[in-house]
Parts: sequence; C-alpha cells; structure tokens
Amino acid sequence: MNTDRPEDPQRQRLREQLEAILLRSEKATSWHDEAARLRRLVNHEGYVPVQTRLAVEDLDFLTGARDELLMFSELGLRLLDLHQPRDAGGITSDAAHPILRCRSCMWRWPCPTFRAMSESFGATPETSLPATVPPGPA
Ligand SMILES: [Zn+2]
Repeated sequence: MNTDRPEDPQRQRLREQLEAILLRSEKATSWHDEAARLRRLVNHEGYVPVQTRLAVEDLDFLTGARDELLMFSELGLRLLDLHQPRDAGGITSDAAHPILRCRSCMWRWPCPTFRAMSESFGATPETSLPATVPPGPA
C-alpha cells in the first residue's frame, strides 16, 4: 500500500521551474574568466565592444538570467526575513548564551532552512554556525 501523499501540484510546478533554471544555468558557458579579461578592455565611455560566439544553450540562459536572478534574490531575502533567530525563552543554565530558535519554523537556530541557504552560498556548516550556539542536538 502506498501511503505517500500525491505531490502538491503547486509544489511540483515550482520544482520543475527550479530544475529548468538549474539545467539552463549548468548548460550555459561561464563568463567568469572572460569577464575578467574583458574588464581590462573597457573604453573611456565605459563600454567594451564584444564579438563572441554564443551557443543556443548560452542564449537560453541569457534570455532569462536577469529576471531569474532577480527572482532568486527576492526569494532569498524573503526567506531570510522569515527564518531568523529569536530567544527561545525558558530557563537556561547559561544566561550569556540563551537558546535561540527560528521564529518561523521553531527549529533550534540556525534552522535547516537558514543552513541550506547559507551552505548554498558557500558557507561551510561549521562557519555558518554562530559562535553563541554550541553544536549538537537540540
Ligand atoms: Zn527557520
């Protein structure tokens, strides 16, 4: 017997959109090294004329890159506003370091959502932990 709930259609649509963005971004050429080289060629008007060969995958990426990045930035900021620490209250043996919980999901701080966001932006799990919270089970 399958006790799993059917996938929520809205959640599934969002997953498909995110996976499509991920695939488009992975297939596109990285401009990291080329941008560094081109930056040295910026003219006195603040521009650099570019002549380049773009693959179809690069055009697919560039078509939506600005809007998608704006969308992701807004998502990140909204998640940061939702998931922030607050004093959990209650009695603690260490008054200088009160136990903090996420005000949205109530997990011990840093909550899984904040950790996932922080790690996605390059923080290692150790460095994403604030010094006031000792590692270990909640
Ligand atoms: Zn949270």
